[in-house]
Amino acid sequence: MSEQSHDILNDREYRQTMIKPYLDQGLWVITCKANIPGIHKNLFYTHLILSYYQPLLDALKPIDKWRHEGSDGETLVYVFKDGNPQQMKNQMVSWEETKPYGRLVDIDVYSGLSGSIRRKSLRRCLLCDNDAFSCGRNQTHPLKELLAKIDQIALEDTQKLLLACLDAAIMDELNLDPKFGLVTPISNGSHFDMNYHTMLSAKDAILPYFGQMFAHGWQAHHEEQLFQKARSIGLEAETAMFQATKGINAYKGLIFNLGLMSSAFAYVITHQAPLKTMFPTIATMTKNLIKDFEEPKTTAGYEAYLKYRTMGARGEAMNGFPTVQQLIPMLNDFNDLTLLKVLIEAIKMTEDTVLIRRAGSYDMAKKIQSWFFNIDVSDSEALMQLTKRCIEANISFGGAADLLVCAILYCRLAKTFAF
Ligand SMILES: [Zn+2]
Repeated sequence: MSEQSHDILNDREYRQTMIKPYLDQGLWVITCKANIPGIHKNLFYTHLILSYYQPLLDALKPIDKWRHEGSDGETLVYVFKDGNPQQMKNQMVSWEETKPYGRLVDIDVYSGLSGSIRRKSLRRCLLCDNDAFSCGRNQTHPLKELLAKIDQIALEDTQKLLLACLDAAIMDELNLDPKFGLVTPISNGSHFDMNYHTMLSAKDAILPYFGQMFAHGWQAHHEEQLFQKARSIGLEAETAMFQATKGINAYKGLIFNLGLMSSAFAYVITHQAPLKTMFPTIATMTKNLIKDFEEPKTTAGYEAYLKYRTMGARGEAMNGFPTVQQLIPMLNDFNDLTLLKVLIEAIKMTEDTVLIRRAGSYDMAKKIQSWFFNIDVSDSEALMQLTKRCIEANISFGGAADLLVCAILYCRLAKTFAF
Protein backbone atom coordinates (compact mmCIF):
# COMPACT_ATOMS: atom_id res chain seq x y z
CA MET A 1 0.00 0.00 0.00
CA SER A 2 1.33 3.45 -0.93
CA GLU A 3 2.06 6.02 1.73
CA GLN A 4 -0.82 8.22 0.54
CA SER A 5 -3.34 5.33 0.69
CA HIS A 6 -2.12 4.65 4.20
CA ASP A 7 -2.66 8.30 5.18
CA ILE A 8 -6.18 8.22 3.73
CA LEU A 9 -7.10 5.14 5.80
CA ASN A 10 -5.59 6.70 8.94
CA ASP A 11 -7.55 9.88 8.33
CA ARG A 12 -10.81 7.91 7.98
CA GLU A 13 -10.09 6.11 11.23
CA TYR A 14 -9.30 9.38 12.98
CA ARG A 15 -12.63 10.83 11.80
CA GLN A 16 -14.45 7.84 13.31
CA THR A 17 -12.75 8.31 16.68
CA MET A 18 -13.76 11.99 16.62
CA ILE A 19 -17.41 11.06 16.08
CA LYS A 20 -17.64 8.18 18.55
CA PRO A 21 -17.89 10.20 21.81
CA TYR A 22 -20.98 11.99 20.42
CA LEU A 23 -22.66 8.72 19.49
CA ASP A 24 -21.84 7.34 22.96
CA GLN A 25 -23.76 10.29 24.45
CA GLY A 26 -26.86 9.42 22.41
CA LEU A 27 -26.31 12.24 19.90
CA TRP A 28 -26.15 11.63 16.17
CA VAL A 29 -23.86 12.88 13.42
CA ILE A 30 -23.89 13.74 9.73
CA THR A 31 -20.67 13.78 7.71
CA CYS A 32 -20.48 15.21 4.23
CA LYS A 33 -17.56 14.72 1.87
CA ALA A 34 -16.90 14.85 -1.84
CA ASN A 35 -16.61 11.47 -3.47
CA ILE A 36 -13.31 11.86 -5.32
CA PRO A 37 -11.49 8.67 -6.43
CA GLY A 38 -7.71 8.32 -6.33
CA ILE A 39 -5.17 9.43 -3.78
CA HIS A 40 -5.49 13.19 -4.26
CA LYS A 41 -8.70 14.07 -2.43
CA ASN A 42 -8.31 17.80 -1.94
CA LEU A 43 -8.92 18.91 -5.52
CA PHE A 44 -10.88 22.12 -6.13
CA TYR A 45 -14.01 20.04 -6.72
CA THR A 46 -13.97 19.04 -3.05
CA HIS A 47 -13.91 22.64 -1.94
CA LEU A 48 -16.65 23.65 -4.40
CA ILE A 49 -18.99 20.80 -3.55
CA LEU A 50 -18.67 21.25 0.21
CA SER A 51 -19.22 25.00 -0.21
CA TYR A 52 -22.55 24.19 -1.81
CA TYR A 53 -23.64 21.65 0.83
CA GLN A 54 -22.49 23.67 3.83
CA PRO A 55 -25.36 26.25 3.79
CA LEU A 56 -27.88 23.43 3.22
CA LEU A 57 -26.57 21.44 6.20
CA ASP A 58 -26.20 24.56 8.37
CA ALA A 59 -29.94 25.12 7.88
CA LEU A 60 -30.67 21.79 9.63
CA LYS A 61 -29.62 23.48 12.90
CA PRO A 62 -26.91 21.20 14.35
CA ILE A 63 -25.77 21.66 17.96
CA ASP A 64 -22.14 21.52 16.87
CA LYS A 65 -20.24 21.51 13.58
CA TRP A 66 -16.74 21.67 12.18
CA ARG A 67 -14.75 21.21 8.99
CA HIS A 68 -12.25 18.38 9.20
CA GLU A 69 -9.25 18.57 6.86
CA GLY A 70 -7.12 15.51 6.22
CA SER A 71 -5.72 13.15 3.58
CA ASP A 72 -9.18 11.71 2.90
CA GLY A 73 -10.31 15.17 1.79
CA GLU A 74 -12.21 17.91 3.57
CA THR A 75 -15.22 16.68 5.50
CA LEU A 76 -18.09 18.62 7.05
CA VAL A 77 -19.15 17.17 10.40
CA TYR A 78 -22.47 18.07 12.05
CA VAL A 79 -23.76 16.92 15.46
CA PHE A 80 -27.50 16.73 16.24
CA LYS A 81 -29.50 16.14 19.38
CA ASP A 82 -33.13 16.03 18.26
CA GLY A 83 -34.81 14.61 15.18
CA ASN A 84 -34.95 11.21 13.59
CA PRO A 85 -31.64 9.93 12.14
CA GLN A 86 -33.34 7.36 9.87
CA GLN A 87 -35.61 10.03 8.38
CA MET A 88 -32.58 12.26 7.95
CA LYS A 89 -30.73 9.46 6.15
CA ASN A 90 -33.65 9.16 3.72
CA GLN A 91 -33.52 12.90 3.10
CA MET A 92 -29.75 12.79 2.53
CA VAL A 93 -30.15 9.93 0.03
CA SER A 94 -32.64 12.06 -1.87
CA TRP A 95 -30.15 14.96 -1.83
CA GLU A 96 -27.51 12.62 -3.26
CA GLU A 97 -29.93 11.66 -6.01
CA THR A 98 -31.48 14.99 -6.90
CA LYS A 99 -29.42 18.01 -5.78
CA PRO A 100 -26.61 19.65 -7.76
CA TYR A 101 -23.34 17.65 -7.33
CA GLY A 102 -25.47 14.94 -5.65
CA ARG A 103 -23.66 12.18 -7.51
CA LEU A 104 -20.33 13.56 -6.31
CA VAL A 105 -21.11 13.76 -2.62
CA ASP A 106 -21.24 11.21 0.22
CA ILE A 107 -23.51 12.21 3.08
CA ASP A 108 -23.40 9.68 5.91
CA VAL A 109 -25.61 9.61 8.99
CA TYR A 110 -24.22 7.98 12.16
CA SER A 111 -26.35 7.07 15.14
CA GLY A 112 -26.35 4.67 18.11
CA LEU A 113 -24.16 1.62 18.42
CA SER A 114 -24.57 0.47 14.84
CA GLY A 115 -22.78 3.59 13.53
CA SER A 116 -23.39 4.50 9.89
CA ILE A 117 -27.00 4.01 8.71
CA ARG A 118 -26.96 2.04 5.47
CA ARG A 119 -28.49 3.16 2.21
CA LYS A 120 -31.40 1.00 1.03
CA SER A 121 -30.17 1.00 -2.56
CA LEU A 122 -26.63 0.83 -3.93
CA ARG A 123 -25.25 3.93 -5.64
CA ARG A 124 -24.73 3.76 -9.36
CA CYS A 125 -21.30 4.13 -10.92
CA LEU A 126 -20.64 7.51 -12.58
CA LEU A 127 -19.65 5.84 -15.83
CA CYS A 128 -21.67 2.65 -16.26
CA ASP A 129 -24.85 0.90 -15.12
CA ASN A 130 -23.16 -1.20 -12.44
CA ASP A 131 -23.08 -0.21 -8.81
CA ALA A 132 -20.31 2.17 -7.80
CA PHE A 133 -18.96 -0.15 -5.10
CA SER A 134 -18.20 -3.05 -7.49
CA CYS A 135 -16.68 -0.75 -10.12
CA GLY A 136 -14.50 0.80 -7.40
CA ARG A 137 -13.39 -2.54 -5.97
CA ASN A 138 -12.63 -4.03 -9.40
CA GLN A 139 -11.08 -0.77 -10.63
CA THR A 140 -13.24 -1.10 -13.73
CA HIS A 141 -12.57 2.45 -14.98
CA PRO A 142 -9.28 4.32 -15.38
CA LEU A 143 -8.91 7.17 -12.87
CA LYS A 144 -8.54 9.64 -15.74
CA GLU A 145 -11.99 8.79 -17.08
CA LEU A 146 -13.59 9.08 -13.64
CA LEU A 147 -11.98 12.47 -13.04
CA ALA A 148 -13.08 13.70 -16.47
CA LYS A 149 -16.66 12.72 -15.62
CA ILE A 150 -16.41 14.49 -12.25
CA ASP A 151 -15.11 17.60 -14.01
CA GLN A 152 -18.03 17.51 -16.44
CA ILE A 153 -20.67 17.12 -13.71
CA ALA A 154 -19.09 19.82 -11.52
CA LEU A 155 -18.87 22.25 -14.45
CA GLU A 156 -22.43 21.65 -15.66
CA ASP A 157 -23.99 21.84 -12.21
CA THR A 158 -22.12 25.03 -11.30
CA GLN A 159 -23.10 26.55 -14.64
CA LYS A 160 -26.78 25.84 -13.89
CA LEU A 161 -26.51 27.37 -10.41
CA LEU A 162 -24.76 30.45 -11.82
CA LEU A 163 -27.39 30.90 -14.54
CA ALA A 164 -30.19 30.65 -11.96
CA CYS A 165 -28.46 33.37 -9.87
CA LEU A 166 -27.92 35.54 -12.98
CA ASP A 167 -31.54 35.18 -14.08
CA ALA A 168 -32.81 36.02 -10.59
CA ALA A 169 -30.48 39.04 -10.30
CA ILE A 170 -31.62 40.51 -13.64
CA MET A 171 -35.30 39.90 -12.75
CA ASP A 172 -34.89 41.43 -9.26
CA GLU A 173 -33.83 44.69 -10.91
CA LEU A 174 -36.22 44.56 -13.86
CA ASN A 175 -39.30 43.96 -11.67
CA LEU A 176 -38.71 47.02 -9.47
CA ASP A 177 -41.24 49.82 -9.92
CA PRO A 178 -41.26 52.85 -9.90
CA LYS A 179 -37.70 53.24 -11.12
CA PHE A 180 -36.66 56.74 -12.18
CA GLY A 181 -36.88 56.36 -15.95
CA LEU A 182 -35.71 52.76 -16.16
CA VAL A 183 -37.94 50.11 -17.76
CA THR A 184 -40.31 48.34 -15.31
CA PRO A 185 -43.14 45.79 -15.74
CA ILE A 186 -45.64 48.64 -16.16
CA SER A 187 -43.59 51.52 -17.56
CA ASN A 188 -41.19 52.15 -20.45
CA GLY A 189 -39.65 54.90 -18.33
CA SER A 190 -37.64 57.31 -20.46
CA HIS A 191 -37.29 54.79 -23.27
CA PHE A 192 -39.46 55.17 -26.34
CA ASP A 193 -37.92 52.14 -28.04
CA MET A 194 -38.15 49.40 -25.40
CA ASN A 195 -40.50 47.93 -22.84
CA TYR A 196 -40.60 45.11 -20.29
CA HIS A 197 -40.95 42.47 -23.01
CA THR A 198 -37.96 43.81 -24.93
CA MET A 199 -35.92 43.41 -21.74
CA LEU A 200 -37.18 39.86 -21.15
CA SER A 201 -36.32 38.80 -24.73
CA ALA A 202 -32.89 40.41 -24.39
CA LYS A 203 -32.26 38.63 -21.09
CA ASP A 204 -33.22 35.21 -22.50
CA ALA A 205 -30.99 35.82 -25.52
CA ILE A 206 -27.88 36.75 -23.53
CA LEU A 207 -28.05 34.28 -20.59
CA PRO A 208 -26.52 31.25 -22.38
CA TYR A 209 -23.41 33.28 -23.25
CA PHE A 210 -22.61 33.80 -19.57
CA GLY A 211 -22.64 30.01 -19.25
CA GLN A 212 -20.05 29.90 -22.07
CA MET A 213 -17.88 32.55 -20.42
CA PHE A 214 -18.04 30.61 -17.19
CA ALA A 215 -17.03 27.36 -18.95
CA HIS A 216 -14.09 29.13 -20.48
CA GLY A 217 -13.02 30.57 -17.13
CA TRP A 218 -13.06 27.03 -15.74
CA GLN A 219 -10.19 26.17 -18.11
CA ALA A 220 -8.30 29.47 -18.18
CA HIS A 221 -4.84 29.58 -16.66
CA HIS A 222 -4.36 33.32 -16.36
CA GLU A 223 -6.59 36.34 -16.10
CA GLU A 224 -5.76 38.08 -19.38
CA GLN A 225 -6.42 34.97 -21.42
CA LEU A 226 -9.71 34.82 -19.54
CA PHE A 227 -10.60 38.35 -20.59
CA GLN A 228 -9.81 37.99 -24.28
CA LYS A 229 -12.10 34.99 -24.61
CA ALA A 230 -14.85 36.57 -22.50
CA ARG A 231 -14.76 39.62 -24.72
CA SER A 232 -15.21 37.62 -27.91
CA ILE A 233 -18.10 35.63 -26.39
CA GLY A 234 -19.53 38.98 -25.20
CA LEU A 235 -19.63 40.21 -28.82
CA GLU A 236 -21.63 37.10 -29.76
CA ALA A 237 -23.99 37.85 -26.87
CA GLU A 238 -24.48 41.39 -28.20
CA THR A 239 -25.36 40.04 -31.63
CA ALA A 240 -27.88 37.64 -30.08
CA MET A 241 -29.37 40.51 -28.04
CA PHE A 242 -29.77 42.78 -31.08
CA GLN A 243 -31.40 39.91 -32.96
CA ALA A 244 -33.87 39.28 -30.12
CA THR A 245 -34.73 42.98 -29.69
CA LYS A 246 -34.67 43.89 -33.40
CA GLY A 247 -31.75 46.22 -32.96
CA ILE A 248 -32.46 47.75 -29.55
CA ASN A 249 -29.61 48.00 -27.05
CA ALA A 250 -31.24 46.67 -23.89
CA TYR A 251 -28.33 45.12 -22.00
CA LYS A 252 -24.98 45.90 -23.64
CA GLY A 253 -23.49 47.27 -20.42
CA LEU A 254 -24.82 44.34 -18.47
CA ILE A 255 -23.23 41.85 -20.89
CA PHE A 256 -19.88 43.46 -20.13
CA ASN A 257 -20.32 43.48 -16.34
CA LEU A 258 -21.95 40.08 -15.88
CA GLY A 259 -19.55 38.54 -18.39
CA LEU A 260 -16.63 39.65 -16.23
CA MET A 261 -18.31 38.28 -13.12
CA SER A 262 -19.17 34.93 -14.73
CA SER A 263 -15.61 34.44 -15.98
CA ALA A 264 -14.05 35.55 -12.70
CA PHE A 265 -16.41 33.28 -10.74
CA ALA A 266 -15.06 30.23 -12.59
CA TYR A 267 -11.48 31.37 -12.06
CA VAL A 268 -12.05 31.80 -8.32
CA ILE A 269 -13.54 28.29 -8.05
CA THR A 270 -10.73 26.51 -9.88
CA HIS A 271 -8.14 28.41 -7.86
CA GLN A 272 -9.91 27.56 -4.57
CA ALA A 273 -9.98 31.24 -3.69
CA PRO A 274 -12.58 33.08 -1.57
CA LEU A 275 -15.54 34.48 -3.53
CA LYS A 276 -14.54 38.09 -2.84
CA THR A 277 -11.27 37.60 -4.77
CA MET A 278 -13.53 37.79 -7.80
CA PHE A 279 -12.99 41.57 -7.65
CA PRO A 280 -9.17 41.70 -7.82
CA THR A 281 -9.45 39.00 -10.50
CA ILE A 282 -11.69 41.32 -12.56
CA ALA A 283 -9.22 44.19 -12.05
CA THR A 284 -6.35 42.03 -13.34
CA MET A 285 -8.46 40.72 -16.23
CA THR A 286 -9.28 44.24 -17.43
CA LYS A 287 -6.06 46.11 -16.70
CA ASN A 288 -5.35 46.59 -20.42
CA LEU A 289 -8.76 48.17 -21.04
CA ILE A 290 -7.11 51.55 -20.68
CA LYS A 291 -5.96 50.97 -24.27
CA ASP A 292 -9.62 51.27 -25.34
CA PHE A 293 -9.40 54.98 -24.63
CA GLU A 294 -6.36 55.41 -26.84
CA GLU A 295 -8.30 54.69 -30.03
CA PRO A 296 -11.15 57.00 -31.08
CA LYS A 297 -14.63 55.44 -30.86
CA THR A 298 -18.19 56.63 -31.19
CA THR A 299 -19.60 55.12 -27.99
CA ALA A 300 -21.07 57.12 -25.10
CA GLY A 301 -18.26 55.78 -22.94
CA TYR A 302 -15.53 57.11 -25.21
CA GLU A 303 -17.22 60.51 -25.64
CA ALA A 304 -17.55 60.88 -21.88
CA TYR A 305 -13.90 59.97 -21.46
CA LEU A 306 -12.79 62.57 -24.00
CA LYS A 307 -14.93 65.30 -22.49
CA TYR A 308 -14.82 64.55 -18.78
CA ARG A 309 -12.10 61.94 -18.28
CA THR A 310 -14.65 59.59 -16.76
CA MET A 311 -14.18 55.93 -17.61
CA GLY A 312 -17.67 54.64 -16.74
CA ALA A 313 -18.15 50.88 -16.75
CA ARG A 314 -14.57 50.26 -17.92
CA GLY A 315 -13.17 52.29 -15.03
CA GLU A 316 -15.36 50.39 -12.58
CA ALA A 317 -14.02 47.09 -13.97
CA MET A 318 -10.37 48.15 -14.04
CA ASN A 319 -10.64 49.11 -10.37
CA GLY A 320 -12.24 45.77 -9.43
CA PHE A 321 -15.87 46.99 -9.14
CA PRO A 322 -15.43 49.39 -6.17
CA THR A 323 -19.06 50.60 -6.37
CA VAL A 324 -20.42 47.05 -6.48
CA GLN A 325 -18.29 46.22 -3.44
CA GLN A 326 -19.81 49.18 -1.57
CA LEU A 327 -23.35 48.16 -2.49
CA ILE A 328 -23.01 44.51 -1.40
CA PRO A 329 -23.14 45.07 2.42
CA MET A 330 -26.37 47.09 1.96
CA LEU A 331 -28.17 44.12 0.37
CA ASN A 332 -29.41 42.32 3.47
CA ASP A 333 -32.30 40.82 1.50
CA PHE A 334 -33.84 41.05 -1.96
CA ASN A 335 -37.05 42.86 -0.97
CA ASP A 336 -38.22 45.74 -3.15
CA LEU A 337 -37.51 48.42 -0.54
CA THR A 338 -33.96 47.19 0.01
CA LEU A 339 -33.32 46.92 -3.73
CA LEU A 340 -34.68 50.41 -4.34
CA LYS A 341 -32.54 51.83 -1.54
CA VAL A 342 -29.44 50.20 -3.04
CA LEU A 343 -30.34 51.39 -6.54
CA ILE A 344 -30.54 54.96 -5.21
CA GLU A 345 -27.11 54.55 -3.60
CA ALA A 346 -25.80 53.26 -6.94
CA ILE A 347 -27.28 56.27 -8.76
CA LYS A 348 -25.60 58.63 -6.30
CA MET A 349 -22.21 56.91 -6.56
CA THR A 350 -21.93 56.03 -10.24
CA GLU A 351 -20.29 58.08 -12.95
CA ASP A 352 -22.82 56.84 -15.47
CA THR A 353 -21.76 57.65 -19.02
CA VAL A 354 -25.29 56.97 -20.33
CA LEU A 355 -26.67 59.48 -17.82
CA ILE A 356 -24.05 62.05 -18.83
CA ARG A 357 -24.98 61.66 -22.48
CA ARG A 358 -28.71 61.89 -21.79
CA ALA A 359 -28.28 64.82 -19.38
CA GLY A 360 -26.20 66.67 -21.96
CA SER A 361 -23.32 67.58 -19.66
CA TYR A 362 -21.32 66.34 -16.72
CA ASP A 363 -22.58 69.17 -14.52
CA MET A 364 -26.19 68.46 -15.40
CA ALA A 365 -25.63 64.77 -14.58
CA LYS A 366 -24.25 65.78 -11.18
CA LYS A 367 -27.27 68.01 -10.60
CA ILE A 368 -29.64 65.16 -11.45
CA GLN A 369 -27.79 62.89 -9.02
CA SER A 370 -28.46 65.46 -6.28
CA TRP A 371 -32.24 64.88 -6.71
CA PHE A 372 -31.60 61.55 -4.99
CA PHE A 373 -29.83 62.86 -1.90
CA ASN A 374 -32.80 63.10 0.43
CA ILE A 375 -35.27 60.65 -1.00
CA ASP A 376 -37.16 58.38 1.42
CA VAL A 377 -37.82 54.96 -0.19
CA SER A 378 -40.83 54.29 2.02
CA ASP A 379 -42.53 57.47 0.67
CA SER A 380 -44.21 56.06 -2.44
CA GLU A 381 -45.60 59.45 -3.47
CA ALA A 382 -42.10 60.96 -3.47
CA LEU A 383 -40.79 58.02 -5.53
CA MET A 384 -43.56 58.53 -8.08
CA GLN A 385 -42.82 62.26 -8.30
CA LEU A 386 -39.09 61.70 -8.74
CA THR A 387 -39.74 59.07 -11.40
CA LYS A 388 -42.04 61.52 -13.24
CA ARG A 389 -39.32 64.16 -13.06
CA CYS A 390 -36.70 61.75 -14.51
CA ILE A 391 -39.01 60.72 -17.36
CA GLU A 392 -39.80 64.37 -18.19
CA ALA A 393 -36.08 65.13 -18.30
CA ASN A 394 -35.67 62.04 -20.52
CA ILE A 395 -32.97 60.51 -18.36
CA SER A 396 -32.26 56.98 -17.23
CA PHE A 397 -29.74 55.22 -15.03
CA GLY A 398 -28.68 52.16 -16.99
CA GLY A 399 -25.15 52.18 -15.56
CA ALA A 400 -26.38 52.27 -11.96
CA ALA A 401 -28.96 49.56 -12.66
CA ASP A 402 -26.17 47.34 -14.07
CA LEU A 403 -24.12 47.74 -10.90
CA LEU A 404 -27.18 46.89 -8.77
CA VAL A 405 -27.59 43.66 -10.79
CA CYS A 406 -23.89 42.85 -10.21
CA ALA A 407 -24.26 43.37 -6.46
CA ILE A 408 -27.38 41.18 -6.36
CA LEU A 409 -25.59 38.48 -8.36
CA TYR A 410 -22.69 38.50 -5.89
CA CYS A 411 -25.04 38.20 -2.91
CA ARG A 412 -27.00 35.39 -4.55
CA LEU A 413 -23.77 33.49 -5.25
CA ALA A 414 -22.59 34.09 -1.68
CA LYS A 415 -25.88 32.65 -0.39
CA THR A 416 -25.54 29.57 -2.62
CA PHE A 417 -21.85 28.86 -1.98
CA ALA A 418 -20.10 29.25 1.37
CA PHE A 419 -16.59 30.05 0.16
ZN1 LIG B 1 -18.78 1.54 -13.64
